[in-house]
Amino acid sequence: MQEKLQTLPRELLALPLIDLKDISYRYAEDGPVADVDALRGLSFGVDSGEFVCIRGPSGAGKSTLLRIVGCLDRPSGGTYLLGGVNVCDLDRDGLARVRLQKIGFVFQDFQLLDSADVRRNVELPATYLNVAAEERRMRAKQVLAQVGIADKLDRLPNELSGGEQQRVGIARALINTPQIILADEPTGALDSANSEAILTILEQAASRGHAVVVVTHDAKVAGRAHRVVEMADGKVVDVRSTAPRVSTTTPPKAHNAARRSLWHHSTLGAISLGLRGGGIRTAVMTLTSILGVALVITLMGMSRGVFGGVTGAVADMGAGRITVTGTEFRLVGAPEEGKFEAVDKVDLTLRDAELIESRIGNVRKAFPRLSRALDIRRRDKIIESVMVAAQSEPMPRSIVDVPWPVAKGAGLTPEDSDLARQVAVIGPTVNDKLFESKEDPIGAFIQVGDLPFEIKGVLGPNPVPTSIFDAGRSTPRSDEELAALKEYLGTAVFVPFGTAAQTLFGTETVNEIVVEVVDAARLDETAGTIRDLIVRTHGRGGVNVAVNATLADAYVNLTGISMTTLVGVAIVALLSTGLVVMSATSLSVDARKQEVGLRVAFGARNADIVVQFLGEALLVLLAGGAVGIGLGYVAGPYLSSLLDMPFSGKAWFAGAGLGCAAVTGLAAGTFPAWRAARIRPAAWLAPR
Ligand code: ADP
Repeated sequence: MQEKLQTLPRELLALPLIDLKDISYRYAEDGPVADVDALRGLSFGVDSGEFVCIRGPSGAGKSTLLRIVGCLDRPSGGTYLLGGVNVCDLDRDGLARVRLQKIGFVFQDFQLLDSADVRRNVELPATYLNVAAEERRMRAKQVLAQVGIADKLDRLPNELSGGEQQRVGIARALINTPQIILADEPTGALDSANSEAILTILEQAASRGHAVVVVTHDAKVAGRAHRVVEMADGKVVDVRSTAPRVSTTTPPKAHNAARRSLWHHSTLGAISLGLRGGGIRTAVMTLTSILGVALVITLMGMSRGVFGGVTGAVADMGAGRITVTGTEFRLVGAPEEGKFEAVDKVDLTLRDAELIESRIGNVRKAFPRLSRALDIRRRDKIIESVMVAAQSEPMPRSIVDVPWPVAKGAGLTPEDSDLARQVAVIGPTVNDKLFESKEDPIGAFIQVGDLPFEIKGVLGPNPVPTSIFDAGRSTPRSDEELAALKEYLGTAVFVPFGTAAQTLFGTETVNEIVVEVVDAARLDETAGTIRDLIVRTHGRGGVNVAVNATLADAYVNLTGISMTTLVGVAIVALLSTGLVVMSATSLSVDARKQEVGLRVAFGARNADIVVQFLGEALLVLLAGGAVGIGLGYVAGPYLSSLLDMPFSGKAWFAGAGLGCAAVTGLAAGTFPAWRAARIRPAAWLAPR
């Protein structure tokens, strides 16, 4: 039967526009409180062009009826045919669609959005239809003219009188040309002159074919309606025709419009309206996003700077380096004695260094080293058996491979090596022993072995502490011992590699090869490959490939820690930002329950509401984030320099910052948006 009704035009069946049959509604209560039957088998109809007034004592079920007729809720029982369609079968979105296209609401306290001007207030229901901005504006003008305030388009609600605000409310209810206008005490807050004017407007709407249903206690309204429906105890107890109906039964022609998609230009309108209306809330959210992202950039830059420095230092200390010598050490006797002897000597050559560098993947550079103990002379002074080292690295290195910077003069250059120049850099002890304190050693000549060398630079104190020799000692050294150790550590002469190989030592055999690797994490594997290569080229074992395992581990750990810190710092900063934005969005939802209810009443779907609030959080975070990135790149280095910390910013921080901001926005907005979508406009639809 019902299906047949739906397929036949209702005019043929002579059904009224609103057809309620045996409607019941029960408020289910939790716990011991009994359920409330607000409507109990109520039937009546309203046709197009009719102006119907519903009256009854408080608690009679009027508001509940209005919610059912307005498709804000489904009845618990009975059938409701709207234009011949059974709306009881529709789901939430289906009901929203009916509200959007067929129903306009008018409220006792007007329910206008304070931060939106008259035009935007009136256009609100049309934003949920696919109506272009231009046409929306035109329609708004049209309906405002119908209610007699065409000149107030740009006013804010608080600049209007109560009567004018209610006209705006009616214009808003009319903009989508709904077949039904539902009004809840529309004159309740107005003086008699304004009440008269509003009643006239509602009468006119009915005469154009809208079905107008007004819930009221106002006797004047009842006097003007075509019919008065008296309710009591959830039922219709009396229906009186009070005035002859003069209007048409043809409903007004609806605009040809379909529901718009979720991402519509008017979504942005709703978002910007919300943000502008948010005042302090919006300012706090935006500021937090700016500071949050700026903080992320600053902290990431600082951590990167600090860890870059530390890992660099550890790498310099030999973390990423392998030392290859031609001697293999074998244990002799019992292991606990710890005695080793050198066996199977391989003569490492320059060619081995070249092979290591060219053949092995993880190798960045192979530095051959030569050293001999030679006597150093100047005039009548002599230092016997000084370690003369030829290294090919840019900076001299002390024992255990620690860089040893030049303190005075200049260092050796690749050119010195290529041209086999007889120049040298001397350690501080050599300087002290050969020169008077007031003499300038730079440019002076010394005798290294049998050859004269010009001094280019003097090294600073050896960076390796004397404590390196203290392992296993239980008593502290005497001052003399310490002085002797310092003297020993400062005794060194560095000469260019080319000079040593070609003239000074005249040999291609190198003492050791220091290999710098690309990836310190693969140090052991690379060491093994080097050993294999040397054994293969020399046809025998006897090569010692040493890795500073502790340093390598430290390096790998540090790199890991620095990455973890970087990510951790970013997460903490963004988490706090997200929490602030989340609470601000939540506050915003609470403060805008009325607006949400209004939007829902006028046909917004749950998804529309979610998109609005989510979009709001996202927009704030992205816009704030963009500013924050700029601020971070400016303030980060500045702050770092104030704190005397290195700052190392990277271009990808910006992308990461924005990406994180977006993720935070989504995360922070989801819960409030979900909450917003659950707000039902029921509560405030009841007469106050
Ligand atoms: P009226 O608008 O005529 O005053 P209502 O429709 O508001 O009547 O209420 C009808 C009955 O339903 C009353 O007994 C009221 O207490 C009850 N009622 C209304 N709203 C709710 C609700 N949300 N939960 C439980 N009972 C409700």
